Amino acid sequence: MAKVNCKLVSWDEVVGWCRELALKVKASGWRPDLVVAIARGGYVPARLLCDFLDIHDLVSVQVLHWGRAAEITAKAHIKHPYTLELSGKRVLLVDDICDTGDSIIVAKEFIMNRWKPAEIRVATMQWISPVAKIKPDYYVDEVKEWIWYQYPWTRLEDTVNFIEKIITETKEKEGKCEWCKDDIINAFKEYYGIDVGEHYYVLAIEKLIEEGKLERVNEDRYRVR
Ligand code: ADP
Repeated sequence: MAKVNCKLVSWDEVVGWCRELALKVKASGWRPDLVVAIARGGYVPARLLCDFLDIHDLVSVQVLHWGRAAEITAKAHIKHPYTLELSGKRVLLVDDICDTGDSIIVAKEFIMNRWKPAEIRVATMQWISPVAKIKPDYYVDEVKEWIWYQYPWTRLEDTVNFIEKIITETKEKEGKCEWCKDDIINAFKEYYGIDVGEHYYVLAIEKLIEEGKLERVNEDRYRVR
């Protein structure tokens, strides 16, 4: 199984990046009237930017796109295309990361055409410059080599998806059908190079059992279904 380049992001790092992002917005001399968070990844950064920039108008658009962690599955589209009256307003569109840029492009086009603000600018914490189709107006890190940012708000979801990938691929390739908890944790750390902590592994295994993807054989053994 190919290893995935991951970075485990802490809450403190997120706060620091958003503080820096807010400083960049301020330094540009441009003041947004309203912040729009791209759901779901943009929620926390958008809320922090509202705090640092003292903005009280915060709304959201949800773009559906990604399926299993770190894999593209479908074309980006707006999930709930509602209408807002924003004529004359300056909008700061916020997401956690600009990777392909597809979600941001779709959200920006939708807001421009449907909500008709005076201007939209984009802010993200990370910008993966070699793959992104657009460059955010404000960003903190330019990322030159693709990496999966394991943000704290997708920690359980990513852990579930990563473990599922490990157990299904290992079953296909090596015929391995039974795992103990420590085997799962060690394989996770080896393939993803991060440690999300005991609580997340336990919750992720429970979720995979609930979904019928793993079956408990005894206290510490699980069978892949
Ligand atoms: P965009 O590049 O416009 O943000 P994508 O469609 O490439 O949109 O990604 C959609 C969402 O998936 C991102 O907003 C982010 O929440 C998540 N995502 C994408 N790439 C990464 C990555 N490299 N690390 C962590 N999360 C990511």
